[in-house]
Amino acid sequence: MASASPSSAFIVTISRRGADRIRAGHVWVYRSDVVEAKDVPPGAVVTVQSGSDRSVRATRVLGSALYSSTSEIAIRMISRAPVENLDQLVRERIRAAIAYRERFVRDTNAYRVIFSEGDLLPGLIVDRYNDVLVFQVLAQAWDGPGMRELFLPELQNAFRPATIIERVDPRVRKLEQLPEKDTSLVSGTRSSAEFHMNGARFLFDALAGQKTGAFLDQRENYSAAAQYAQGEALDAFCYQGGFALHLARVCEKVTGVDSSRPALEAAEQNARLNGHEIEWIEANAFDLLRDYSDAGRQYDCIVLDPPAFARSRQNLPTALRGYKELNLRALKMLRPGGILVTCSCSYHVSAADLVETVAAAAADSHRIVRILENRGQSKDHPSILGIPETAYLKCLIANVS
Ligand code: SAH
Repeated sequence: MASASPSSAFIVTISRRGADRIRAGHVWVYRSDVVEAKDVPPGAVVTVQSGSDRSVRATRVLGSALYSSTSEIAIRMISRAPVENLDQLVRERIRAAIAYRERFVRDTNAYRVIFSEGDLLPGLIVDRYNDVLVFQVLAQAWDGPGMRELFLPELQNAFRPATIIERVDPRVRKLEQLPEKDTSLVSGTRSSAEFHMNGARFLFDALAGQKTGAFLDQRENYSAAAQYAQGEALDAFCYQGGFALHLARVCEKVTGVDSSRPALEAAEQNARLNGHEIEWIEANAFDLLRDYSDAGRQYDCIVLDPPAFARSRQNLPTALRGYKELNLRALKMLRPGGILVTCSCSYHVSAADLVETVAAAAADSHRIVRILENRGQSKDHPSILGIPETAYLKCLIANVS
């Protein structure tokens, strides 16, 4: 595993295609573009150079990177120059990430402090929920000896959190061939917190329920949706009630639907905390939307925020059929002048794909759809030009007549 000492000890040579990708501003190099990674241990910090298969002599140093021995993304660049002092680099990146949030994040004490590639710390995620910090490592290198000491003290100093929690995604650890472990407290004793966003209050518990925290990337879309909503609202795929709670301030009646009982239990606690009465229904949203639209039910606002349907490019067509079905049902149920809030968090579904899908649903349902806002993820999930994967969330808000 990696050591925190200077990064030049291990060298990875990549193909011209890989080098071109880095020069174009991306930070990933796929395994198929690795020409040579001799004796490079899993999770090492490496010096990256370009060279062709035939003449490795004609090389050029491209910078430093985190290496994964198992992921298809073999290399994640951390610097376009060889890094001599990794400790300093990580500290500077964390400080820059915090300064960016201080400048651009408003009305909340819950936000993503470090967004992996979006903050040039690929494979590292840190979320703040009031006085609880939650981090997650998604790449081998951050799991290596000495690596945690690179970022935990800086976060500790900056936030003085009551608790630091490591959240584990078992699927990622398996893919990166890291030893299994559970989500656990790294410091402090409390795994829960109350936080606020846009004036609404929420409970967070890292060790209860779905253990995924809140969808902080939707925070700005919640208040945008609430600007337009009125009357009766349906929040499909509501999770712990992010949209529903915001809509309850402006709508007469709000119904939230999710297939997860623990999510709905958390949603009800959140509703009570805010003094709202919201109807929660445990159901498959596809079935419920079909039944309700067949029964002629109507709403003034419908939110569709399903989980990522397209996990890879191969299942894009199936995913688009799913989005079409949901949007078609929703459009049929909206009263004239109603508001549709429709989201996709699949990177593989582009903004244009989503617009096209909703347009097809509009044509099939004979509705006229006017786009009020074409939105993305909150600013604490920065997307970097040149790294398209950092922009994944799409949220359309439309007026339907
Ligand atoms: N809108 C939420 C986030 C939604 S995440 C927020 O802003 O917080 C997607 C949610 O869809 C999860 O809570 C998951 O439990 C739920 N889900 C997945 N498949 C479902 C289905 N077929 N029917 C209803 N809910 C589903």
